Amino acid sequence: MKFSIKLVLSTMIVLALALGFSGFYFVNYVFETSLDREVGQALDESSILSFAFETAALNVPLKYSVLPDSVVEEIASKLEMGGQGGGRLLRIADEEKNILYTSGGFTADEGVLAQTDEHTKSYRVIRGQDSYYVHTCVSINALNRILYLETMKDVTGVFTERAMGFSLYRKVTVVILLTGTVIMLFIASFLTKPIRLLTKATRKMAEGDYTYRARQISRDELGQLTGDFNRMANALEENINALEEEIEAREEFMGAFAHELKTPLTAIIGYADMLRSHKMDEEKSIMSANYIYTEGKRLEAMSFRLLDIIVAKQEEAQLQETPVGELFAYLQEMFAEKKDADIRFIHEEAVVRMEANLIKTVLVNLIDNACKASEPVRMPAAGEEDIAADEAAASGGKAGVVEVTGQTVDDGYRIAVRDYGIGIPEAEQGKIVKAFYMVDKSRARSKNGAGLGLALCAEILKIHHSQLQIESKVGEGSCFSFVLAP
Ligand code: ADP
Repeated sequence: MKFSIKLVLSTMIVLALALGFSGFYFVNYVFETSLDREVGQALDESSILSFAFETAALNVPLKYSVLPDSVVEEIASKLEMGGQGGGRLLRIADEEKNILYTSGGFTADEGVLAQTDEHTKSYRVIRGQDSYYVHTCVSINALNRILYLETMKDVTGVFTERAMGFSLYRKVTVVILLTGTVIMLFIASFLTKPIRLLTKATRKMAEGDYTYRARQISRDELGQLTGDFNRMANALEENINALEEEIEAREEFMGAFAHELKTPLTAIIGYADMLRSHKMDEEKSIMSANYIYTEGKRLEAMSFRLLDIIVAKQEEAQLQETPVGELFAYLQEMFAEKKDADIRFIHEEAVVRMEANLIKTVLVNLIDNACKASEPVRMPAAGEEDIAADEAAASGGKAGVVEVTGQTVDDGYRIAVRDYGIGIPEAEQGKIVKAFYMVDKSRARSKNGAGLGLALCAEILKIHHSQLQIESKVGEGSCFSFVLAP
């Protein structure tokens, strides 16, 4: 059963019970009050009648010392006639409670008479065939006799009113319940709308549409639930997107890896085959062996880099306070022998939290790349000096210079490696940190590159909660930088 229907039904049950009880209580209260009034009137009337009887008995001729039965009947019949609408219902009994006079239609039994004595008044509400009466009994003290006067007052009207009250109340209750049901259906439908919207969103997500969100239409608990659901959906969508990206990256990686393996392996197998199947002169044999050696070395370097990346991915950051001076001293010493590039180190002294060995690996890679990018593509041929001059001008006269700088910035310590080399086209800048990506494959391979250096740098910086920033312009050079948190 739908929640809204349950809501309507439960409300209607409570409403029906409330209306039923209140209606019953109200109609009954009016009935009891009216009946009490009728009983009071009946008792007053019987008192007046007994007084009238006693007064009439005073006029009995003096010869009687005790009121004779014939006079009792005479007075009774007169009293009977004096009633409204031509007749009263009354009955007279003597001191022994023997009936002396009974009006026609007086049908009550003698129960009330039996329980009355000369000092008490009694009454009872009794039911006739189609009507109700108040049956009263009082004693009369008339001319040395104690008599009992019983009356019957018709109170059917009070009972009829009660029946009408109940019937009217039943009708009103039915009308209220019907209109209430219609109104409650609208209210329940409005109240449960957020639930319906949430259900729709859940179903959509179960069908694979992770972008669908439930509309938030209220600020109550259900509205909050919708908000929480949407936040959960956002997190889920982000995780799924990240997973999809990771799967895609893995597939790309596998493809590139297979390709990078194939190239050197084809060369190695080809030259090895040549060596074993042809008799070649010494020069060619040395050249072939040389190819096999360089390609083998490249494979070896690639496998080491891959291992480094795998280790970096699994590494837990063990950051330690390290004076930046130590790092720069190490790099300066390492590249001191590199004569083909002019590497300049400038840094501000600071103590930074890092895993020094890993950051050294990052900087060695970046400086290596900067040096490679700064090497001239080719020597200018005769008559092309002006082109070389143009390139030198574009670099502001710094061609071949690599600057490694370290400075304190707002959000930590920034280390940058700048070169004035070939630069990287804008479209490639986002891709070069991917494993095996090389802008110019033949140039990179000729310098023993496999497109893994920057991927390794990115992984190492990730465990330092940092990332590589790349600024570059073709022909003007590049700047690779990262910030280490204080
Ligand atoms: P590789 O082993 O080929 O150097 P990297 O991951 O270090 O691999 O670099 C990926 C590619 O990014 C390089 O092949 C090169 O094309 C480009 N690259 C990296 N650094 C620079 C730089 N400073 N200037 C120009 N190109 C660069």
